[in-house]
Amino acid sequence: MSEFDLDLFVIGGGSGGVRAARIAAQTGAKVGLAEEYRFGGTCVIRGCVPKKLMVYASSFSDAFDDAEGFGWSVGATSFDWWKLIAAKDTEISRLENIYLTNLRKAGVHVFTSRARLTDAHTVELVNGKSFRAKHILIATGGTPFVPDIPGAELGITSNEIFDLKEQPRRIMIVGGGYIACEFACIMNGLGSHVTQAYRGTQILRGFDDDVRDHVADAMRERGVEIMLAHEPASITKEADGLHVTLKNNDLSIVDQVLFATGRHANTRGLGLEEAGVKLKPNGAIAVDEWSQTSVPSIYAVGDVTDRVALTPVAIREGHAFADTVFGGTPRKADHELIPTAVFTQPEIGTVGMSEAEARETGEIEIYRSTFRPMLNTLGGRDEKMLLKLIVAKDSRKVLGCHIVGHGAGEMAQLVAIPMRMGATKEDFDNTMAVHPTAAEELVTMRTPVE
Ligand code: FAD
Ligand code: NDP
Repeated sequence: MSEFDLDLFVIGGGSGGVRAARIAAQTGAKVGLAEEYRFGGTCVIRGCVPKKLMVYASSFSDAFDDAEGFGWSVGATSFDWWKLIAAKDTEISRLENIYLTNLRKAGVHVFTSRARLTDAHTVELVNGKSFRAKHILIATGGTPFVPDIPGAELGITSNEIFDLKEQPRRIMIVGGGYIACEFACIMNGLGSHVTQAYRGTQILRGFDDDVRDHVADAMRERGVEIMLAHEPASITKEADGLHVTLKNNDLSIVDQVLFATGRHANTRGLGLEEAGVKLKPNGAIAVDEWSQTSVPSIYAVGDVTDRVALTPVAIREGHAFADTVFGGTPRKADHELIPTAVFTQPEIGTVGMSEAEARETGEIEIYRSTFRPMLNTLGGRDEKMLLKLIVAKDSRKVLGCHIVGHGAGEMAQLVAIPMRMGATKEDFDNTMAVHPTAAEELVTMRTPVE
């Protein structure tokens, strides 16, 4: 008889954990998985999926505005926050159920419980039950970080925004990253008055500078009040709302404060130190390229490892782990040229290096096109699209592609394929355009900018 109850125990039923558990179980391995909250994890329950549904909801205000230019008469419109939240909840529950059903169908033993390690091979549930597993996978994701300022507890994070009972009339969003910018646009599109307070000099640090400027200008034009070099010092609750005092002593009065100030790896209370698992200085689990920790029987994937905090990355890491350890086909998750989208309005799609990063690698050429997309002509909107290619002067390889505008995320997905194959600017040029589209600019930009 084996000294182990299970071949694999997975802690965390989110993107990475569910994929790893299912693939491992399909090879015939005996797999257990514990999830303390809801199956599907951050992405399905309180991340990508409900967020994108809210992006769609918020984009109708544009459609109503633009329709008149195309001959439509749009009557009075109104938005019901609670109706959206209830519809979203129904869809999320449906997806959660699919995740759970698929795990069970694959033969995974599922436990709705918090779990922790007690040694390199043992996992303990809250009810005291413990399992000996040959391998353990930590896929516990991340959790929102909130700066320690007086009154911070009066604010909310992305965990709560999806379940608010009422739409805040006035909201302050703190931060300048993915979540802050996406929710600034969502809430603005749904009719709230949005102020976004960001400590730096321009939102979306790390993205290409042209993209950052273009999106910030467009967001302002649409009504988001972006306050740069501003951050809250304290929050108090008063009769007329939450009083947010900023570090420069300015006062903002709002109904909600959303802290979108980053996320930290979910490693607290997991028994990692006791099991000898090494952590990075920021508390994330240190792993090698096979997602193996400092303890050979323990692996970790997804946000808890703080590599690239995106759902497809967690899924790929979980799949590669299962293929390697159980499928007999060793495979590393490749973190090169990961395409990404920020679902702001206008949307961002990006692959590869920013201009500043590319300049560090040698001589480059920049191809840039800003133009009013056809939808905006009759729609009567001045907002422009931005397409930008960064090309290595010697090798002619396309090093970066940055798109702002309608469908940018969809375009980034497709352009990532030739870029990963090492496509040159001439490969782009030799490709026939699809007309009339916005994406055709990617193959018709002929002259580099000075
Ligand atoms: P998670 O999905 O977070 O899963 C971890 C699970 O572990 C959770 O269900 C948690 O309850 C459980 N858990 C934690 N501790 C324990 C324990 N001790 N015992 C049992 N269970 C435990 N990414 C994109 O690619 N595109 C997007 O559009 C996008 N939008 C996002 C929007 C928001 C608001 C947020 C917050 C994130 C978004 N992300 C997006 C990021 C994406 O959600 C994460 O990268 C992804 O979910 C990470 O998957 P994971 O498996 O590592 O962790
Ligand atoms: P980000 O890292 O994108 O942004 C965090 C923001 O918080 C930054 O603007 C940062 O400022 C600011 N910040 C950090 N600490 C403090 C502090 N102490 N005080 C004030 N501001 C602070 O994280 P998010 O939480 O927005 O999202 C987490 C991750 O989830 C993203 O990085 C992304 O990987 C993923 N995600 C992906 C999405 C998508 O694919 N569309 C959507 C949402 C999330 P500074 O820049 O100055 O450091």
